[in-house]
Amino acid sequence: MILFFYNCSGGVSIKTLIKNGVIVNYDSTIKGHILVENGVIKRIFSKEYEGLNNDFEELLKKSYDDLLGECEVIDAEGNFIFPGFIDAHTHPGLPEDLGFYKETDDFYTETKAALIGGTTTIVDFAEQEKGQRLIDALNKRKKRYEGKANCKYAFHVAITEVQDDLYNQLVEIKNEGVNSVKLYTTYGMKLGNDHILKVMDCCSKLNMVVLVHCEEDSIINYCKDNLNYSKQRPWQAEQTMVNTIINFSRLTDCTCYICHVSSKESAHAIKNAKEQGVKVYMETCPQYLILNSDKYSTPSAEMTKFILSPPLREKEDNEALIKACLEGITDVISTDHCAFLYKEHKEKYFKDLNKAAKGIPGIQLRVSLIYDLLVEKYGLNPKDLVKLLSYNPAKILSLEDRGYIKEGNSADIVIWEREKFKVTMDIIKEGTDYSPYEGMELTGRPKYVFINGQAIKG
Ligand SMILES: [Zn+2]
Repeated sequence: MILFFYNCSGGVSIKTLIKNGVIVNYDSTIKGHILVENGVIKRIFSKEYEGLNNDFEELLKKSYDDLLGECEVIDAEGNFIFPGFIDAHTHPGLPEDLGFYKETDDFYTETKAALIGGTTTIVDFAEQEKGQRLIDALNKRKKRYEGKANCKYAFHVAITEVQDDLYNQLVEIKNEGVNSVKLYTTYGMKLGNDHILKVMDCCSKLNMVVLVHCEEDSIINYCKDNLNYSKQRPWQAEQTMVNTIINFSRLTDCTCYICHVSSKESAHAIKNAKEQGVKVYMETCPQYLILNSDKYSTPSAEMTKFILSPPLREKEDNEALIKACLEGITDVISTDHCAFLYKEHKEKYFKDLNKAAKGIPGIQLRVSLIYDLLVEKYGLNPKDLVKLLSYNPAKILSLEDRGYIKEGNSADIVIWEREKFKVTMDIIKEGTDYSPYEGMELTGRPKYVFINGQAIKG
């Protein structure tokens, strides 16, 4: 992989013309050329762009021809041109945060892997420590990225403790551009229902989105000794809490966002709620569409590669969740990327799964996995791929000037080719020693990725 940046020394303006591509937004597909200048999309030349009249079309043709001599030109004939993809749920550096190892280059490595795979923005979590104000949690997390990020990044703030001046604290983070908070209903950082309601009530007033990791903790505790990992964290735990959050959303009029939906029952509950007008967004992840509990069927060290929560479910769950994507019930597909090392954090605990680190990587392959599955195999319109992986996350999280290819927006662009490739560890740059998708053959990957008009070649 060669990183190359266009020469911008001496005040010379950087101009790139991407010609002859198929420009795909969530609501349109047009054939045309894109002029990128100084990091933004300067012009789109297309007969189909915004209903131009004939005279104007001639003028565009002329200026396009003039430009050819003064630009770097990239020929995108036969390629899709997508808006830069956004991963709304990632955990770079989490193994380090949890004390698994120290002083790694996680932020550098993982943001680079994201970019190579076509993701130009990731959203991470600034987690509140006990006694800490939300704004301090945010600022502390931001510092971790300084000088290390290869792609754009934004934050949700995870509330682990409700303090008396919650409303004012939410105003403070909103003023810093954070429009979403995250709540847990299990693990040590879980909030009780009375606190969840308080957060949702405040966020409703402030027009902020509340993301929830839905697993009812009492059910997890009840099932913790089950030897089947999928049943240690059963679908009932997820669906119970999904229903609770949906009802809290009805009561508070707060917009909620259910993270990493893994089961058909939860998808069904969300579909019904949407039909009744509840303000609920649904997120799922590639692993819940592609992998299932077959991975847990033979006890072996290998199965620890697939230990995450919620766990992988059954084949019918894969099918129901794919259907939810095809029918527009799913709003966002993110990774929940969490890059533990197989050798150090997983393999040796296969006889006591509770000790194995929970989480799997996937930040680099997300777009290829989903393009291959939904567009190539299930015939999803590429416009809907853009909706799930770029436009919706930008809109839901109020990420300005992203998720849509139009004049004036940041030149975060992916030129996509329908090439087949095999997932081997030499192409994976996620900073882990395994990929849950190793060995898979996929169709579709970035040929070039532009971020603020600067290009890296795929
Ligand atoms: Zn997560």
